[in-house]
Amino acid sequence: MRKKVVVIGTGPGGSACAALLQSRGMDVTILEQNRFIGGRCSTFEENGFMVDTGVHMFASGPSGPHGQVARELGVAQPWMIRNPSESMWMNENGVFYLYQKNTSFSALGELVKAGITGRQRINILNTLRRSVNSFGVVGLLKEMAGVRRANPAFLEKYDEVTTREFLYQFTEDSGVHRAMNCLSMLLLVVPYDKSSAGEFIYAVSGIFGNGTLGVPRGGAIGVPRSFLRAFRRDGGQLLLGVAARDILVEGGRVTGVVGSDGETYTADAVVSNAGLHRTVELAGEDSFPAEYVEYIKGLKLSYSWLATKLALERRVVDLKAPSFFPIPQVEADEIFAYCDEPDGLPEDPFLFVPVPTEWDPTLAAAGRQLIIMGVPTSNDVDQEDRSQKILDIGEKKLFSFFPAIERNLMWKSRITNKDTNRITRKGKGDCIGLAQIPGQVGSRKPHPKLPVEGLWAVGCDAGARGVGTEQATASAMLVSSLIT
Ligand SMILES: Cc1cc2nc3c(=O)[nH]c(=O)nc-3n(C[C@H](O)[C@H](O)[C@H](O)COP(=O)(O)OP(=O)(O)OC[C@H]3O[C@@H](n4cnc5c(N)ncnc54)[C@H](O)[C@@H]3O)c2cc1C
Repeated sequence: MRKKVVVIGTGPGGSACAALLQSRGMDVTILEQNRFIGGRCSTFEENGFMVDTGVHMFASGPSGPHGQVARELGVAQPWMIRNPSESMWMNENGVFYLYQKNTSFSALGELVKAGITGRQRINILNTLRRSVNSFGVVGLLKEMAGVRRANPAFLEKYDEVTTREFLYQFTEDSGVHRAMNCLSMLLLVVPYDKSSAGEFIYAVSGIFGNGTLGVPRGGAIGVPRSFLRAFRRDGGQLLLGVAARDILVEGGRVTGVVGSDGETYTADAVVSNAGLHRTVELAGEDSFPAEYVEYIKGLKLSYSWLATKLALERRVVDLKAPSFFPIPQVEADEIFAYCDEPDGLPEDPFLFVPVPTEWDPTLAAAGRQLIIMGVPTSNDVDQEDRSQKILDIGEKKLFSFFPAIERNLMWKSRITNKDTNRITRKGKGDCIGLAQIPGQVGSRKPHPKLPVEGLWAVGCDAGARGVGTEQATASAMLVSSLIT
């Protein structure tokens, strides 16, 4: 008899896992509470523009977990790759273009051309001296090779160290610290004094190692859609608008799921993409050992990003790269301090500004431009007033760089934590899922097998490493192989 599996949710984690299990001969039903697929990785048509719910870049594109799963399933998943993919504005220190494999340190080039000033020379020498003091010359070379290869033993060494502590071994330079704090918020959605250095190294080395950072053609939804295309082709059943209300457990093992449609879906295994906190609630705390429930309740979620989506009647932003992020002129430790203060507002906000139509012109009519401006915040959902103020400040900064945006605006819309929560219904606005912080990553990341026979978690909360959606799909690869 074919093993019956119910998968709860169609985020990248749920849809990849369901498709892989179905393709390997299991009988899979997916229950998705929303009437659309993809969870936080989806795309909608908004007044003639295709707009993502949140996602704006995929760190490893076709070489990462999404591409690997699509190839295993035998489905097309076209990617748009641009080089350079990002530009990081360092004000007085110029612009760094991320050419992926071959990053142009054009800022360094500029500094050399202009003549490196005495202060800059001191910074470089201090960095060198500090790095050599920390590791010795041979040790430093080994350390640099370790960062580049990011093999499991090297990552484990830094999993329990924060990115900030890791960097202080090499340099005190404020520009480097500001830039790396921003990258930590961009890639892991956690400030660098809290993020795990092991996760940070894994994310950064993956981008440079693969050189395929990109976006799926047609928007973020292209990723879950490609997985679900294979799922349907192989005979899987997808039910939209049906929430899992209860995960049934009898005698310590899972027996099925009760849906919001009143049906009971019997199953030999249940795979939940609803996040660990909600999965424990659905199965009932009594189904688990008390210490496991306490452990799950103590796990922390990532921070979040607010966003303004700006639709322009003509192409206004014309840069070498399709995304840019200006680094704030605030001390590194202060950049995200406002996120943890109840009414805190950023003095000089960190903006991440992808221009999706520069990646993929099919997202709007010819000549139009879509711009997305993101600003970080806490994962609180009850901060609507503050969220609007943060976005006001962010837009003011963006318009100061590009005044023509306001003049050519057709419409704009905003995304706050309450919109993210409307998708996940977790009561939080976290972007990622579990925060990638010491104590919650690597060997201390929650295992996807829960302590109830036949119950599994898939997605960003369990089992894998990586940036956002890629972590979720990597988790699906692990869970599907453990189940089969
Ligand atoms: C604003 C924003 C920007 C982001 N930017 C990026 C980015 O640039 N790059 C990147 O890689 N990642 C980005 N992310 C993060 C990324 O979207 C998430 O990490 C990823 O989608 C998580 O995948 P997942 O499979 O774990 O779960 P989710 O995407 O959260 O999907 C979970 C699914 O489970 C369903 N579900 C939950 N409970 C139930 C239930 N009881 N019954 C039925 N269905 C249920 C939900 O409806 C949802 O469809 C961003 C997120 C946000 C919010």
